[in-house]
Amino acid sequence: MTAITQVAGSARSPADGGTRVEVVSDAGHRREELKAVWEQASGCQRCPQLASTRQTVVFGAGNADADLMFVGEAPGAREDERGLPFVGQAGRLLDQLLGEIGLERGDVFIANTLMCRPPGNRDPLPQEIDNCQGYLFRKLELIRPKVVCTLGNFSTKLLRGDPTGITRLHGRDEVRTIGPLALRLYPIFHPAAALYTPRMLETLREDFARLPELLALDAPPQPEPAAPPAAVVPEPDLAAVTADPGGHEPEPPEDDAQLGLF
Ligand code: URA
Repeated sequence: MTAITQVAGSARSPADGGTRVEVVSDAGHRREELKAVWEQASGCQRCPQLASTRQTVVFGAGNADADLMFVGEAPGAREDERGLPFVGQAGRLLDQLLGEIGLERGDVFIANTLMCRPPGNRDPLPQEIDNCQGYLFRKLELIRPKVVCTLGNFSTKLLRGDPTGITRLHGRDEVRTIGPLALRLYPIFHPAAALYTPRMLETLREDFARLPELLALDAPPQPEPAAPPAAVVPEPDLAAVTADPGGHEPEPPEDDAQLGLF
């Protein structure tokens, strides 16, 4: 079968030194590109403290062609150990809520604002969010979900480009253009916040229950491919972040658990 490649010219590819760029529309090719970004991310050194304290770069996992993508905050201790997002208590709640709407992990893609665990589970620093955002934008661009569900304040503020907090925004969907993509953004509370607060858990469950309705909507109309420069997706400086003094290609990560789920 002939792969269809749409050249949109609105994003920069990791490999091309930041010039003109292909947005790959065939799902198989997008998955391959996602794997390449994962391999590059696995050696990221952009945040020296996080790179020195982490065990794994938690790239994200799930269906690389998912209609629904979740974006949390940052890996915790369990995620750092296993290299997978949301595998601790908050993850179990996320699985349960997914089950209640008839979905499971393999149906969605789960990522975080930061790919590395902040020591002691402190909040992500603005510089760290800045360093990691290019990877997140690239994941969005390659997975092309119809709905992006932001979990909590950090991902909501980042993807809306606005400091309005989750308490005001949760449960309200809106169409946003992020890089070359228009998608439906749907902020909800972070499952960790709901673990010990029954009222918040109830709200989270109610907000979750709207997801099937949002997924049933048509994808928002996409912007014209020849987007203006302002729509350019910030790209991680992958040459810098994966720099190898010997100039070699980064080694693929050894643990392929994340890859197996794409
Ligand atoms: N909390 C997050 O925000 N992300 C994880 O992966 C786990 C807990």
